[in-house]
Amino acid sequence: DALCCICLDGECMNSNLILFCDMCNLAVHQECYGVPYIPEGQWLCRKCIQSPSAPVACILCPNKHGAFKQTDKGQWAHVICSIWIPEVHFANTVFLEPIIGVENIDRARWKLKCYICRKSNVGACIQCDKQNCYTAFHVTCAQQAGLYMNIREECVDADQTPSPPPKKSSSRR
Ligand code: ZN
Ligand code: ZN
Ligand code: ZN
Repeated sequence: DALCCICLDGECMNSNLILFCDMCNLAVHQECYGVPYIPEGQWLCRKCIQSPSAPVACILCPNKHGAFKQTDKGQWAHVICSIWIPEVHFANTVFLEPIIGVENIDRARWKLKCYICRKSNVGACIQCDKQNCYTAFHVTCAQQAGLYMNIREECVDADQTPSPPPKKSSSRR
């Protein structure tokens, strides 16, 4: 069965169904992508509405696939990248758009080298939550690599105002 590409869970509840984009077939939970009401007829993801023919790139990571939203400056970023990068938020926490706070991202974060794709100066990395571990990685690289990332609770249990997962301070040596 289909998995939500944001939380990677296939669980479906009446109030939180998995929607499929009628154009690109993206699969996302209503709550993970910020779709409180299911539209009648077809449903299109933001990318397919706003940029149907041109591919979009996430400003926060090097990976091309996944669920995108726009920032308040009209750039594109993954929903999952925006959830995990501490400085980044959603202006509207129900509709999960626009993405705000990109300009507040710690400068060091843009330079961190992702230990999975081995790229640095591409997007912004987060770091392992374990104390004294400074291993850095892109959010989507970690997701693809199957690293433990606990967003499921927030995703499924979220009420009207989903709270982001606990965020790690950006302090590093
Ligand atoms: Zn789409
Ligand atoms: Zn991304
Ligand atoms: Zn990476």
